Amino acid sequence: MKVVSPSYEILKDLDEQSLASRIEVCGRLCYKSEDKITPESAPPFIRRILKHGHNSVAEMAVLTLKIDLDSDAMSAQLFAAQPKYFQLDRIDKKTLLMSGSVRAFRELFLEHHTIKIVKAITTYLADRHPLFFEDILPKRALVIQQGVNVEKIPLSEVEKMPADLFAKHRYIAVKFIVNRAVTHEMVRHRPCGFLQESQRYCRYSDSKFGSQVTFIKPLFYQEGTEEYRIWEQAMAETEKLYVSLLETSTAQAARTVLPNSCKTELIVYANLLQWYHMFRLRTSKGADPSMREVMIPLLDDFKKEFPGIFDTLSVES
Ligand SMILES: Cc1cc2nc3c(=O)[nH]c(=O)nc-3n(C[C@H](O)[C@H](O)[C@H](O)COP(=O)(O)OP(=O)(O)OC[C@H]3O[C@@H](n4cnc5c(N)ncnc54)[C@H](O)[C@@H]3O)c2cc1C
Repeated sequence: MKVVSPSYEILKDLDEQSLASRIEVCGRLCYKSEDKITPESAPPFIRRILKHGHNSVAEMAVLTLKIDLDSDAMSAQLFAAQPKYFQLDRIDKKTLLMSGSVRAFRELFLEHHTIKIVKAITTYLADRHPLFFEDILPKRALVIQQGVNVEKIPLSEVEKMPADLFAKHRYIAVKFIVNRAVTHEMVRHRPCGFLQESQRYCRYSDSKFGSQVTFIKPLFYQEGTEEYRIWEQAMAETEKLYVSLLETSTAQAARTVLPNSCKTELIVYANLLQWYHMFRLRTSKGADPSMREVMIPLLDDFKKEFPGIFDTLSVES
């Protein structure tokens, strides 16, 4: 068995990559198949995950659109539809700012394809990114809509927005390597996108995992103490049982004996506003100490990266 300390990495460069690359890089974390990434691997991978309904993978690429309208009245239909999982702002009477994931834009079309702005958005996106719409969009629906102009806003422009818009429209992904108890708490934050290493598919007896189970060093027990010895013994025995079950059963069956201390990888993708909310809850004195162990230093890093947004947040000691 292997014991590692918890850690995290801000995936700062993720949003600089193409939408397809972002989706593939994050999606492969579930299967720990990052070694299979090649210059051509993204389209077949994305087609496969969409076909199987593993839709949360398509939440890992967000883009921002500026929508100019000939008339103010046109936006009423869109607001009345209450599109889900978007950040939608009215910049002025005839201009909207809309951020959402590839998944959100796909489902917007599926649910509201009769709305003129939705048709214009889908036409714009499907023209540039046919891969994301080929399974849901009949060719005849690709018609230019008069009176609506859609344009993608580059990240460099999002970065220059006033703080209130920037916090809503700038998304950041963080990859955590923590125990299963911590990820179980993180995934309670509903507005975020998540992808997690799958114990159903990952078979830790395989050589790619070093033929062993990895556990996260517990914050609560110091090495050299009797408590740590008991914890270590429990993990070693669990690993033995898990490996023996794998001789006759699948990973998804054998994983039922794995404990909370098991190492897992999780990508959390959210806008800065949601990160603010998570930091407030998850660095507080009442939060799980193992959660605070990663969230407090992560907040320090966010303060350095986005001073205007996180400066005012302080950690209770
Ligand atoms: C110290 C601490 C102890 C906890 N203990 C427990 C526990 O014992 N058991 C347990 O089950 N959970 C526990 N939790 C989890 C907690 O109840 C929340 O589920 C979790 O922190 C997610 O945060 P959130 O509910 O603020 O919203 P998020 O899911 O992060 O959502 C962000 C915002 O979206 C809005 N929102 C999202 N979904 C809805 C909705 N369906 N309806 C209305 N508004 C919505 C809210 O405005 C919310 O503030 C604990 C959390 C903390 C920090």
